[in-house]
Amino acid sequence: MKKVVSFILALTIIFSVLTVGASAAAVKTECGGKCDTCPSIVVPGIGQSNVWALDENGDYILDDEGNRVSCFPAIFDIGTIVLKAIFPVLLTLLTQRDIGLSSALSDIILDSFEVNMCDDNGKNTGNLEVEKYPYSVAECSEYEKEQIYNNVPLLDYAEQAGEDHLYYFAYNSFSNHLEIVNELYDFIQMVKRETGHNKVNIVPISMGGSVANGLLEYYPEVMDDLNKVVYIVPALDGSTIVGDLLSKDLTFFDKEFLFNGFLETLMDEDEARMIEVIARIIPDNVLLKGLHAAVNTLVDEVASKITSIWALSPSSYYPKLAKELLSDPARAEIKRETEMYYHAQLNSDKNIQTLVDKGVQVFNIVDYDVPLYCIGNTWNDDNADGVIHLDSTSMGVKSAKVGEALPADYVQANTHCSNPEHNHISPDRVVDASTGLLPDTTFYFDGQNHEKTARNDIIISLATRLLAKDDIKDVYSSPEYPQFNGARDPRGLKNSHIPAAKAVDTSALSPEVAAELEAALAEAEAFVNGTVCYAGQQKEVENRLRAALVAAGVYTVEEEEEPSDFFKNLSLWLYENYGTEGFSEMPGITVNLIFKPFFELFNKLLTPAF
Ligand SMILES: [Zn+2]
Ligand SMILES: [Zn+2]
Repeated sequence: MKKVVSFILALTIIFSVLTVGASAAAVKTECGGKCDTCPSIVVPGIGQSNVWALDENGDYILDDEGNRVSCFPAIFDIGTIVLKAIFPVLLTLLTQRDIGLSSALSDIILDSFEVNMCDDNGKNTGNLEVEKYPYSVAECSEYEKEQIYNNVPLLDYAEQAGEDHLYYFAYNSFSNHLEIVNELYDFIQMVKRETGHNKVNIVPISMGGSVANGLLEYYPEVMDDLNKVVYIVPALDGSTIVGDLLSKDLTFFDKEFLFNGFLETLMDEDEARMIEVIARIIPDNVLLKGLHAAVNTLVDEVASKITSIWALSPSSYYPKLAKELLSDPARAEIKRETEMYYHAQLNSDKNIQTLVDKGVQVFNIVDYDVPLYCIGNTWNDDNADGVIHLDSTSMGVKSAKVGEALPADYVQANTHCSNPEHNHISPDRVVDASTGLLPDTTFYFDGQNHEKTARNDIIISLATRLLAKDDIKDVYSSPEYPQFNGARDPRGLKNSHIPAAKAVDTSALSPEVAAELEAALAEAEAFVNGTVCYAGQQKEVENRLRAALVAAGVYTVEEEEEPSDFFKNLSLWLYENYGTEGFSEMPGITVNLIFKPFFELFNKLLTPAF
């Protein structure tokens, strides 16, 4: 009897395992894998995945409004920051010396980034949850679809190919790069099983380019799983901003620049000048010391242990940085993994060429002619899209710097193009696309800012066309999508100005005003419906339509607020007369005459205590 029972039990187990296995392998797509469109997997960029902070019970931490707290890029808790900083700041103000300010700043950095920190093995130690979508968009909730489409508006693609042919590979931007790559490989296998297709398309965006580098290097067999790769502004060789940060080679450590010019590159000039003036309440050297301490902590304790950050540093920086930051034997595992990725970076072009040779269609969409954020000292060494230098996104293209052109006698180098008929020099003579690895399948967008790439509807429609159809093989396939195109974000035109112009009853207007409004409207509609533009065209079209709407009495002339030059003049006057000195260091300044005795008194009183 016992034998029979155990035999039945064994049968049941085998049967149930088989059913589970069969249902897990069930194809979920309507096409059953038989249609012509391969499913596409978006591998998004930095910060394009939701990562939520958890408390010790594993519950979401909520803010005052009841919303979940995002871990990206850090959790800046103003209350804690003020508590930590208030005494050191007051003491520093009173004594005009660094009494605890540097260490308070370091503490604040550690507190804020704690959730994103990794241990000596490069594994994330924070209590967090990555919001993942291990199923097609068709199975996503409305909330999840909103997150996905807001990051990458591939709605048209989903409509054409079906939402069951679209996947979004979410990952934590600040975590272990190798684990992200491993997960992507498994994700691709899952998509193949679920869709019934034996090949997939991948869309590596920005930081996703670094994940794709790892994928091709560590899993060369994945090349047989790929149908198309559509890179969008990919960080294939990192960004010099990250390389400079890890090198601590930063523009604002130059105090002349810190007090006259740096902040203006990041914000509105009047605000920047105001901060420059306020910063003088402590001596420049004290301020600099605080900044160095904050950056040292950020790099030594936080960034240099996060291997996904290492994957955003250019390969040329690696040997020196590894020596500086990873020599400690305790960091051997981080060194091993980053060295693996260093080779993936060095082999990036070779691996992409292998893809092409195997018949995988590889496309690249890049932005150029936007200066890199002026943070790292090499910010102006190459053309860029504001965030990544062009050499990295374009697979090694030769270009002029932002605002410059290639020399008048420059001749197309044809490093990677052998067709003498092709003109790969951009109309503005900034880029020689023949020098990039894929001259015939790389699309360039002039003046397009990296961070607003997804708002350029031409880029989205190009990506959609490349993924959903097979008619565009290269930059010569269709005049709708030429190699060189322009920046734009026509949401204002589409959602406000054009509807406003269409609603106007032109019969009530004078013939001239009516004619101009109709002409401006026609031009605007042609512009938004077209897929070719030049940088700056949108502004011209929009200005004309706005002016016509003002003439028609629909819009009123916007009163331009007179910018106040108060702080600008004050900051420049201080800089001219006192360099970068703090108020207390300025000889003969009234403020100083009044306060100097107090500073001296406080110093006497407080020094023994510290
Ligand atoms: Zn299909
Ligand atoms: Zn060519």
